[in-house]
Amino acid sequence: MRAVVYNGPRDVAVQDVSDARIERPTDVLVRITSTNICGSDLHMYEGRTDFPRGGVFGHENLGQVAEVGSAIDRVKVGDWVAVPFNIGCGFCKNCERGLSAFCLTTADRSVVPNMAGAAYGFADMGPYRGGQADLLRVPYGDYNCLKLPPDAEERQNDYVMLADIFPTGWHATELAGLRPGESIVIYGAGPVGLMAAHSAMIKGASMVMVVDRHPDRLRLASSIGALPIDDSKGSPVDQVLELTNGIGADRGCECVGYQAHDPEGHEHPNMTMNDLVKSVKFTGGIGVVGVFVPSDPAPQDPLYKQGEIVFDYGLCWFKGQHIGTGQCNVKAYNRQLRDLISAGRAQPSFIVSHELPLDEAPDAYKHFDARDDGWTKVVLKT
Ligand code: NAD
Ligand code: ZN
Repeated sequence: MRAVVYNGPRDVAVQDVSDARIERPTDVLVRITSTNICGSDLHMYEGRTDFPRGGVFGHENLGQVAEVGSAIDRVKVGDWVAVPFNIGCGFCKNCERGLSAFCLTTADRSVVPNMAGAAYGFADMGPYRGGQADLLRVPYGDYNCLKLPPDAEERQNDYVMLADIFPTGWHATELAGLRPGESIVIYGAGPVGLMAAHSAMIKGASMVMVVDRHPDRLRLASSIGALPIDDSKGSPVDQVLELTNGIGADRGCECVGYQAHDPEGHEHPNMTMNDLVKSVKFTGGIGVVGVFVPSDPAPQDPLYKQGEIVFDYGLCWFKGQHIGTGQCNVKAYNRQLRDLISAGRAQPSFIVSHELPLDEAPDAYKHFDARDDGWTKVVLKT
């Protein structure tokens, strides 16, 4: 089968690899039809991680079931399914509580001894191949395949967002504790930040502010009724305080991660947490879904090593704020979000800028990695 293979920093190719296949009775084999490039792929693409050469990317996957293992009884050949990026088992202590991003059964403990959680095509998240390919093996397929309604084939660009970024944006607003009628500021207008803004609008926020500097991304934020805040035109904290009568936003979301830029445009992992603590009100909540990386095990990139980022924790404490963090437990949300899409109440495909054949992945990675104007979200089609 064809697959997007990592050959080294900023070097991917579409190559022939051995076909994904059923390996265990609980596996489902999915013929991928839509698979996204994600901001999370870029950490590996840029060579900042120990992702193995020859590994296959792709954790935002949708397709049609091609084959099922002998222990599968819920999913049928021919079903259209979206596949959550986390690989859960459904029966461990964490999965049972809905914390499928922290599955204890599927985790690979060879690098981090007490590891919880696994994902497709991810550094340090297990040996699972990604779905930027013709076929994907889905472990615990009855649990990890979300069945889609009859309009799945025509609305793939909406439903494929269920694999990761729509639930992740939603999760950011949940971690922040957003309630109807509250204001929220979202740092980052990448795909994840725009999904957080979309979620906040659906949840009935009174004001949704989105901070970034890319005009095309800020325009998309405006297109759904959010207030764009351009941080190249002045302090985002000052702009948020001005819009909230000096009080600050009720809630805040971090949708950038350690690759945040500072006012000069240089990479600076400390930026967004500091700005969030300052722009969220006393007693407000902050949800952090942007990726930060532990200092140990030490990754290759020196900036990436700064897991111990510096922000004014004293101010956070003084203001009585709470912070929620981590990978999104996709399973906890994706049935409800699927039904919002199906009912026409959510259209996460508004962020899709490019729909390209899988074979054009290498060029698409280049543009998306450069944050080239207009390259907001790429869906690869097999
Ligand atoms: P992206 O890189 O396309 O978007 C990030 C955006 O943040 C860019 O538009 C950039 O201009 C903006 N930005 C940079 N510095 C900023 C600053 N100081 N203030 C405000 N905005 C700033 O990536 P994405 O696909 O939207 O993903 C965002 C983050 O979410 C990444 O770290 C990704 O790995 C992570 N992620 C986490 C989960 C999860 O489960 N927690 C899931 C998916 C993605
Ligand atoms: Zn993703």
